[in-house]
Amino acid sequence: MKRLAVYCGSASPADPRYLELAHTVGVELAKRGIGVVYGGGRLGLMGAVAKGALEQGGEVIGVIPEALAGAAGRGGEVANHDCTQLHIVADMHERKAAFTRLSDGFLTIPGGVGTMDELWEAVSWAQLGYHAKPVGLLNAFGFYDHLIAFNSQMIATGFVRPAHQGIIMAESELDLLLARMAAHEPHTPIFAMKSSEL
Ligand code: AMP
Repeated sequence: MKRLAVYCGSASPADPRYLELAHTVGVELAKRGIGVVYGGGRLGLMGAVAKGALEQGGEVIGVIPEALAGAAGRGGEVANHDCTQLHIVADMHERKAAFTRLSDGFLTIPGGVGTMDELWEAVSWAQLGYHAKPVGLLNAFGFYDHLIAFNSQMIATGFVRPAHQGIIMAESELDLLLARMAAHEPHTPIFAMKSSEL
């Protein structure tokens, strides 16, 4: 994996462990020679991932829609001009297409609604066959326990096909998660299934 799209919160939770985790993820990816593709912001966990990777001399590619690039965050604009490359795109559709095109996999760490939008799009596009890249979920501090339980509920009820039950790779340790993502074997996507299998 040369580059991973990293999805995470743009907020800064009061619990300092979250920003520390994001910074560590940036550092660890850079140490492994894995570039970061992310939302191009300098706020919250997003900014911390980028900072950690840049401090280690890692590659950081930001992709930000123009409406967000110029938005006034606390203390100024939200775009992170320290990135190795900063792509300013028209809208969220272009941004997410760029995340998929530029990366070799998707790594979600704790975040909010925007992070969920990005994670579930990566899962849904994997099921369909728009990409065959690994989708990793870092369940640090048990933050995603309920999401993992809900995913199991969708599987148990029959809303996720057997072939797609393993798309989300969830681990609480980054090392283990990256090893599983690197060993990823693509599943059969919906586009390759016969109608009788659906
Ligand atoms: P959230 O989890 O709701 O904080 O949203 C974070 C995700 O949405 C990130 O992965 C970004 O791609 C996008 N996003 C949300 N807010 C911003 C922001 N202020 N600057 C850049 N990207 C953002």
